[in-house]
Amino acid sequence: VSAFFAELAWLGAEAGVVGGVVVESGAGGQITSVRPGAEAPPGAVRLPGLVLPGFVNAHSHAFHRALRGRSESHSGDFWTWRDFMYAVAATLEPDSYRELATATYAEMLLAGYTTVGEFHYLHHAAGGVAYADPNEMGLALVGAATAAGIRMTLIDACYLQAGVDGSPLEGVQLRFGDASGEAWAGRVERLAARYEAADVVPLGLPRLGVAAHSVRAVPEASIATVAAVAADHDWPLHVHVSEQRRENEECLKVTGRTPTDVLKAAGALSGSTTVVHATHASAGDVARLGLSGVCICACPTTERDLGDGVGPFSDLSDAGTSLCIGSDSHSVLDPFEETRAIELNERLALERRGLWRVPALLEAATSGGAASLGWPAGGIAIGNPCDLVAVRLDSPGVAGSGRLAGAVGGSEQLLACVMFGAAPSDVDTVVVGGAVVVEAGEHTSLGSRQAVAERLDRAITAVVAP
Ligand SMILES: [Zn+2]
Repeated sequence: VSAFFAELAWLGAEAGVVGGVVVESGAGGQITSVRPGAEAPPGAVRLPGLVLPGFVNAHSHAFHRALRGRSESHSGDFWTWRDFMYAVAATLEPDSYRELATATYAEMLLAGYTTVGEFHYLHHAAGGVAYADPNEMGLALVGAATAAGIRMTLIDACYLQAGVDGSPLEGVQLRFGDASGEAWAGRVERLAARYEAADVVPLGLPRLGVAAHSVRAVPEASIATVAAVAADHDWPLHVHVSEQRRENEECLKVTGRTPTDVLKAAGALSGSTTVVHATHASAGDVARLGLSGVCICACPTTERDLGDGVGPFSDLSDAGTSLCIGSDSHSVLDPFEETRAIELNERLALERRGLWRVPALLEAATSGGAASLGWPAGGIAIGNPCDLVAVRLDSPGVAGSGRLAGAVGGSEQLLACVMFGAAPSDVDTVVVGGAVVVEAGEHTSLGSRQAVAERLDRAITAVVAP
């Protein structure tokens, strides 16, 4: 059992920011007690600043981290960026992928993310040849999460074709593909047999989820197969949807329907589905996604990096969807920026402010993501995983709430100062499953920010020419 003492903690929209909170964690890494207004018990780990539930990164492709800064000066769009991404995908092997993902997850932890949903589609060796264990690349990612100390849901993605028209995979795409939907399911069952979860999954074991990569990459019949596997195991189901206008146009041309309608017909839209992006969801799609009760995963820093567009996230929410965030291509790894960009991008698109209340944004970035990834709701409450992030309040970026001057600011105002002003460098302590993974801004096993930077540098130059 470990005890933590928070000077200030966010205890949910109703309680807001509360002073002097003792949080205790039990053997399973779950919160066993939360005592506001208490004295620090002897031996408690002191958490400075404002303590929030750990951020949940619901959509990650770890290897895309190698692209940051390397594609920024090039013209084009998503499709030309994709060529850069394919060039990196072509070089990765299990060992180099484990190294790159370990460093990427360490960067996530230093930024305040405590859980990652890894949307994994780089399954096989060159030419689509299976490794000795056909899940070797997925297991490399699990190894990376364990080494870095981040909670993970490994989302195994089905990827069978190059386009909605059924054109075959070619080149590096062969590494993503299985022979058929059934072959994909067989490989995933093998993984499941290895990891079928006990009631409480200890840290180091992932939870599993599945994905249909997109309507581009998976034919309708196989989307139904993926949905059936998800339902059988009660796993989350993720899918990229309408990130690009071209996807909508191709889908309409071949099927006469929108991607959302194809997913609906395949039985892939339910309360355990997460729709990633939905940038170009039509008004009809918005209504249907709302009625299906899906979670929308907004990846606004990637969507702006790729020139995708601004998703109709507040319309979707009004229609009934829930929301989570993902750093997707890791153009930045900054949960504060990822979260506020939802509101700020919509301000630019709609010429209005205040579409999202700050507590709702925080909820998307924490419990919304936990639900999307099949973990108990994130939040500092009994029974939830003891995943915490302590954000310092003494940097100029977050000043202005009056807390430093001794004034008692409103809860929501203090939260807004953090969510709209904080940066990863303000993250002091990160706790995952009751274990301190980041302390005073340093990773407890992988070292200082500089050491993590050097590790990232080595891992990236090993797979991409400098
Ligand atoms: Zn993605």
